[in-house]
Amino acid sequence: MAEDCIFCRIVNKESAAEIVYEDEEIVAFKDIYPAAPVHLLIVPRKHIPTLADVEAGETMLLGRLISVANDLARAYKVDRSGYRVVINCGKEGGQLVYHLHVHLLGGKELSHAIAEGRGA
Ligand code: AMP
Ligand code: ZN
Repeated sequence: MAEDCIFCRIVNKESAAEIVYEDEEIVAFKDIYPAAPVHLLIVPRKHIPTLADVEAGETMLLGRLISVANDLARAYKVDRSGYRVVINCGKEGGQLVYHLHVHLLGGKELSHAIAEGRGA
């Protein structure tokens, strides 16, 4: 647990969040400022600051984070309509909270973020 990390505090139930899933290594909760009707954050219990900090022995955890995102997409009924899974990494990657997390976004037509980056 990292001091003054908001996601560590949520994982440890020291800060409130709407938790939608938890197991021995992962917790998922609703994003406090949702960017879509379904906007969940899937985080490891372990404090790993960014995707770039994931070590070779932790790649299974990355697979599990994505797998939980898939299960939640099904539970929130966006698996057929489609959804987006995003990991922001570092300053230029748009990361604001430095505890690794996967965004699950769905329930509306999402902007074509990659094409827009090209000026499309
Ligand atoms: P990122 O830019 O990938 O670091 O995204 C961080 C996300 O965490 C943002 O979408 C925030 O809305 C969300 N967030 C920040 N604080 C909280 C909180 N206390 N509970 C739930 N979501 C949060
Ligand atoms: Zn943390």
